[in-house]
Amino acid sequence: MESKFAKHIDRDEIVQIVCDLVRQNTVNPPGNEHLCKDIVTRCMQSLGMEVSFYEKEPGRTNVVGRIGSGAKSIGFVSHMDVVPPGELEQWNTPPFEPTITDGRIYGRGTLDDKGSFACAYSACKAFLAEHRDFDGTIYLIAAADEEVGSELGIIYLVEECGLKFDVAIIPDGGRMDLSIYGEKGILWVELESHGIQAHGSTPELGRNAIVPLAETIAEIKSLDLGTSYDHAFDGWTMNVGTIQGGSSTNTVPAVARATIDFRLPAGISKQQVLAKIDEKVSAMRRRSPDSDVRVKVLHETEPHLSDKNSIIIRSFDQAARRLNLPMNYETFGGNTVAKNLYFAGITSVVHYPGDDKLAHVPNEFVIIDELVLGSVLYAETLEAYFFG
Ligand SMILES: [Zn+2]
Repeated sequence: MESKFAKHIDRDEIVQIVCDLVRQNTVNPPGNEHLCKDIVTRCMQSLGMEVSFYEKEPGRTNVVGRIGSGAKSIGFVSHMDVVPPGELEQWNTPPFEPTITDGRIYGRGTLDDKGSFACAYSACKAFLAEHRDFDGTIYLIAAADEEVGSELGIIYLVEECGLKFDVAIIPDGGRMDLSIYGEKGILWVELESHGIQAHGSTPELGRNAIVPLAETIAEIKSLDLGTSYDHAFDGWTMNVGTIQGGSSTNTVPAVARATIDFRLPAGISKQQVLAKIDEKVSAMRRRSPDSDVRVKVLHETEPHLSDKNSIIIRSFDQAARRLNLPMNYETFGGNTVAKNLYFAGITSVVHYPGDDKLAHVPNEFVIIDELVLGSVLYAETLEAYFFG
């Protein structure tokens, strides 16, 4: 590999860090990120970083390493919590006992996001070996609570602990040859249908809550939000994710609920979606005048699109070109902490030293060579960022 940083990357050390972290069961909930505290602290201290700990709730430890004092600053944001392993029968190896075969490490969190932490650490190490006296500040962050919304993690760090840097690298999405620069907004809507409970043998005495809900969902299936949106995004999506209602077969149900997940590009507003849903609910009510379906917003985020000409994306791209690494830039429908940081004024590059299709699935693995390559790529990015 044609990079002066390559000689500073210690492959065995990366493997060791990933394995040590994967052995800590940090499934969120409950999280227990404190189990990773000593491991990541040792890594940060070995780089000469000053290490700080932040906990919004006991055991939900965020670890922040910092080195340098110059004004220009960058943060690596990885997270220590993982998603549950799911059905254990689907795993060929125990999810919390890292297993190395064919240049891969298998286990929950090997990529998402413990491998990413090891990669970011190793990038800092290589960069500092060449530029101990750089003029700037690097933050290496092992955050808590990313998988269920970051309220105890990066949101807490930025909004309540005053953590601030100019730009960020988020090794938590995308692929080795793909960086994510924009994310759709999320709108979660609940439909709640109200009826009157009665005995199942005398339905005429009650009012069924399920039937109008089902009819509304059938109407919403044909909902069209059009094509007037920012075409940096590939479109909008809708998914009916849950439905529940009724208590027994022989009872007329009084309540039924469904939830729908919309992913919205810039150019389609929440108000537009809610107006379309209202049209559908009204159409259904015209047919069944005594139905009572209410619409409630459960969760929402705004879409965002980072400036492709921002210094962090330019630096990252310069690094990829220096390594002859093909790199594409896309938007997607998922949400990473890049969105939280964007609205806090921090532009990020989102990029995995692996493949995001391997995150959250059984038999999650990371390719060790990709962690090594990612480390060099991020070290080159640091150099491009600090030295232009
Ligand atoms: Zn992740």
